[in-house]
Amino acid sequence: MPLEPLLPLFHRLNREHFEGSLAPEGRPLVDLRWSDGRLTRTAGLYRRGHRPDGRGLCEIVLSRPLLEPLPLEATLCTLCHEMIHAWIDRVLEAREVHGPHFRARMAAINASQSVFRVELRHRFPLPVEAARWLARCPRCGHEAPYQRRRRGLACRRCCERFHGGRWDASCLLVFEARDAA
Ligand SMILES: [Zn+2]
Ligand SMILES: [Zn+2]
Repeated sequence: MPLEPLLPLFHRLNREHFEGSLAPEGRPLVDLRWSDGRLTRTAGLYRRGHRPDGRGLCEIVLSRPLLEPLPLEATLCTLCHEMIHAWIDRVLEAREVHGPHFRARMAAINASQSVFRVELRHRFPLPVEAARWLARCPRCGHEAPYQRRRRGLACRRCCERFHGGRWDASCLLVFEARDAA
């Protein structure tokens, strides 16, 4: 799945769902970019502040490792979610995260089309290639990607199967570091 250029998607969503308010006279109020390979804690983010050299910063960053393997709808709903944050901040100039403005606009967007669905949280699986750790159950061999190492985590399936659902040290997951893509 090649990376989609973000600007045309932004303009389309801006026209369809934000009455063009995020690009007055065609000029976007926010910069858009794909992350490098390291942004894996979230599929997307909106931020405003200052760059190290003092210039203003206002941007939407989408996670290349999380979204690249997924269909276009995942990029659309993530971009749209972050555009609601940008709209609240830059157009409404309100201080809010996922408050009433956010929820109302999200509901309106979801009601107006069925191509993608904006959610309060980005719920995308961490692709194995992007994970720093792989946790393996020594008993059943099940493997799952993790962003960070966690201590004392046991295989749920084996605890259920062999220990009546209780945590048991014999099902402790073994973490192995991998080279993130
Ligand atoms: Zn959000
Ligand atoms: Zn297991």
